[in-house]
Amino acid sequence: MVEQTHAAHTPIARKAPLPAASDLYNIDHLLSEEERMVRDTVRKFVRERVLPIIGTHFEAGTFPRELVSEIAALGLLGMHLEGYGCAGLSAVCYGLVCQELEAGDSGIRSFVSVQGSLAMYPIWAFGSEAQKEHWLPRMARGEAIGCFGLTEPDRGSDAAHMQTSARLDGDAYILNGTKMWITNGSIADVAVVWAQTSEGIRGFLVERGTPGFSTSNIHQKLSLRASVTSELHFSDCRVPAQNMLPNVLGMRGPLSCLNEARYGIAWGVTGAARTCYETALEYAKTRIQFGRPIAGFQLVQNKLVIMATELIKAQLLALQLGRLKDEGLMHPVQISLAKRNNVREALHTAREARSVLGANGITLEYPIIRHMNNLESVFTYEGTDDIHTLIIGQAITGENAFS
Ligand code: FAD
Repeated sequence: MVEQTHAAHTPIARKAPLPAASDLYNIDHLLSEEERMVRDTVRKFVRERVLPIIGTHFEAGTFPRELVSEIAALGLLGMHLEGYGCAGLSAVCYGLVCQELEAGDSGIRSFVSVQGSLAMYPIWAFGSEAQKEHWLPRMARGEAIGCFGLTEPDRGSDAAHMQTSARLDGDAYILNGTKMWITNGSIADVAVVWAQTSEGIRGFLVERGTPGFSTSNIHQKLSLRASVTSELHFSDCRVPAQNMLPNVLGMRGPLSCLNEARYGIAWGVTGAARTCYETALEYAKTRIQFGRPIAGFQLVQNKLVIMATELIKAQLLALQLGRLKDEGLMHPVQISLAKRNNVREALHTAREARSVLGANGITLEYPIIRHMNNLESVFTYEGTDDIHTLIIGQAITGENAFS
C-alpha cells in the first residue's frame, strides 16, 4: 500500500510547473494573501515612483525627498509599530516592504529603516507618553524626520565606549561630542542621540535648532549616494531633561533599535540581489558574442545559477526569521546570521552580475553598479560583517573574541 501511494504521488510532483526564474522555489506560495498584497503595493510604488528617478539622484548625490510624503501615505514609516498613527504590520510584512524598497535602492530602504526602526522605535519602546504623542504621529505622517546618532569618529564597532557625554545641570542635560555617519542627520527634525551619563548610556531627543547642536554633511561618498549621511556636533548643547528617554539605560537601548533595523536589512538586501540577478539574466539572454547569446555559455550559466540559488537561500532565511519574530521567538544571534549571510551574498551577486554585463555593467544605465556600491555600506553599517561573525562565533563556542 505504502509503495503504491508513493508511486501515485511522484508523477503529480513531477508535473508541477516550474515557477518563474525570479522565484524558482515558489517562495510566493509561503506568503499569505495580505503579505502578497503589501509586497505588490510597494513593488508597484518602486517601479512607478522610485526607478524613474533614482539613478539621477544617485549620480547627483541627492536624496529624493519628494518621495517622503508618498512613502508615508503608504503607511511605511514606523509600519511595524502599534498605535500613534502607525500601521501595525507584521514582521514579515515589514520585511517584504524592505525587500521591495531595496530592490529600488538601498538608500530608500535606509531612509525607511532609520525613520521606523532607529528613530521611531526607541521613542515608542522607551519614551514617555508625552514624547510618544508629540513625535510618533508626525513621524508616521512623514511630517517630522528622525535620525539615530550612535557612531562617533573614534568609536564605531566599539560604540559602548562612546565619548559623547550628557551632564545633568538643573532641568537640562548638557551634551558634548560628535556623532558621525548619521543617516538623515542634516534633514532630521529630531535626533535620537546616545550619550554617556553619570548613570550609564542614555538616549536623548535633540530637536533641530537646539542651540549648540549643528550638522554637516559627509561628501565624496561613492555608496548610498541617494541618502543623506551627516555628522552631528554637540557643543554645550542644553537639552531639556524631559527629552531624555526615561525607560532604558545602557547599551540595551541602542542595541534593541539596531536589532529592529538589522532585521529589515536581512530582508532588504534580497531585493537588491534580485534586481542584480534579474538584470544580469535578461542581459545574458540578449547579448550576443561568438555568434550566440552569452546565456548559452557554461561560465555565464554558472554565475546565474549561483545568483539564483543564493537569492532563494537568503529569502528563506529572512522569511523564517520573520516568522520567528512574529511569534516572539526571534533571537538576536539569528538576526546576525541572516544579516551577515544575506548582505555577503547580495554583494557577491552584485559583483558577479556586474561582470555579466561587461563594460555596460559599470554605467548607471543599468542598476547593478549602484546596488553594488550601496551594498558596500550595508556590509559595514548596523554591525560590520566581522562583528556579526564574532556575535555568532561567541554564541556557538561560548568564547568572546571581540577584544
Ligand atoms: P570600525 O569599527 O573602525 O571598523 C573598521 C574595521 O575593523 C571593520 O572591518 C571592522 O569589522 C573591523 N573590526 C572592528 N572591531 C573588530 C574586532 N573586535 N574584531 C575584528 N574586526 C574588527 N551609524 C549611526 O550611528 N547611525 C546611522 O544612521 C549610521 N548610518 C550610516 C550610513 C552609512 C552610509 C555608513 C557607511 C555608516 C553608517 N553608520 C551609522 C555607521 C556604521 O554603523 C559604522 O560605520 C559601523 O558600525 C562600523 O564602524 P566604523 O566605520 O567606525 O568601523
